[in-house]
Amino acid sequence: MRGVVGPLLAVACGVACAATAPAPPKVTAPPATSSAAPSASPSPSVSASVSDSAVVSASASVAPSASSAPPKLVCNAQTAFPWLIRGSYIPVGSHKAAHQKTLEWRSKQYGYVKPHGDPDWNSKTPHEQAVDTTFMGLSVRMHKRVVPALACVEAELKVACAKDKYKPGALAGIRDHNTYQGGEVTNHLYGIAIDIDPTLNSCCGCVTKWKKHPLCKKKVKSIYERMVMPQCWVEVFEKYGFYWLGHDTLQDTMHFEFLADPDKILVPQP
Ligand SMILES: [Zn+2]
Repeated sequence: MRGVVGPLLAVACGVACAATAPAPPKVTAPPATSSAAPSASPSPSVSASVSDSAVVSASASVAPSASSAPPKLVCNAQTAFPWLIRGSYIPVGSHKAAHQKTLEWRSKQYGYVKPHGDPDWNSKTPHEQAVDTTFMGLSVRMHKRVVPALACVEAELKVACAKDKYKPGALAGIRDHNTYQGGEVTNHLYGIAIDIDPTLNSCCGCVTKWKKHPLCKKKVKSIYERMVMPQCWVEVFEKYGFYWLGHDTLQDTMHFEFLADPDKILVPQP
């Protein structure tokens, strides 16, 4: 799908979110086989022009062959690669090959994080490729390759979810320490995960503090009732290749991670 592209920024968690203490309530890979490729059909609803310089430069890799007049780039709807979704490779101890495959993909796409995987996969680290950006008016530091995806999300949120009037007060993006245990590696280390209002959107399957939080203790019919963020936000993030950990056993509702193809975030307008 296409979407408008605007400026962004950012922050995040991973079993992450475990490290985030809850506060009082207020606010296709190359898969080994290319068959797992996500859908990349451009969507019509959000028409956008790539106007943000950071976005444009970050998306340069998707620019078509150089020509005198570069084609206008538009947001492209994508689906997270199933094999990159946490639930497909945990526990890591019994899914070593599947987990290793994700480490290789993440390292080659975003940088090598010592000691996870093979340093030969990438001579750079995610931190060397991280940039400060903004998302919904807030600052956040993310891997430059996913900044365009956040811009696509923001542009559509402002249209599709305007009625919800939700405005986050805090974000979390790239991290320098792994918050997962048992060999798993959080996507926050790669700068491709973002937490929205880490103290308000619960992670009931994370640390003990969260389990005692009102949002986790109450009986609900849907996971969407365990957060302050509107469900509409989840739907928009998912539309542009982000996976929501609210679907995971962690119930990490604050956490989105980009698990689609970073080379297909923006595509030339037909
Ligand atoms: Zn997170």
